[in-house]
Amino acid sequence: MYNFLYYKDDEGIREPWFFENSKLPIILSYLAPIDIYAIAFGPWVWCRGEMDVETRNHETIHYHQQLELLFIGQWILYVFYWLKGLITYRNGEIAYRQSPFEREAYSNDTNLDYLKTRKPFAWRHYRESNTEST
Ligand SMILES: [Zn+2]
Repeated sequence: MYNFLYYKDDEGIREPWFFENSKLPIILSYLAPIDIYAIAFGPWVWCRGEMDVETRNHETIHYHQQLELLFIGQWILYVFYWLKGLITYRNGEIAYRQSPFEREAYSNDTNLDYLKTRKPFAWRHYRESNTEST
């Protein structure tokens, strides 16, 4: 039902536009609680260096999270979960790592076939915080 969101007509996985060797992650790192290597926002991904396949996969997982939440929903929830984590852990980096969007992406970015079988809204299954990756 949601397949058109995630796949192109030829069944290939929808991917964002990648911009490598970008200064944007460096600039944003001054504002963020973590050192940003790559960032997905809307249909674009910026990376401070060349992207390896796992980083590409990680950022494409974020792209699919944004697609299913019509972008704005993911941005709101991303901030919500980060603030929730900040209150819980009082540490920006842990809050970032415990976000269900990051937990889904980090748990699956080494599986290059993940997006071929990913279920819609799969990040929901990563809402319960723990330090184990599932
Ligand atoms: Zn991420």
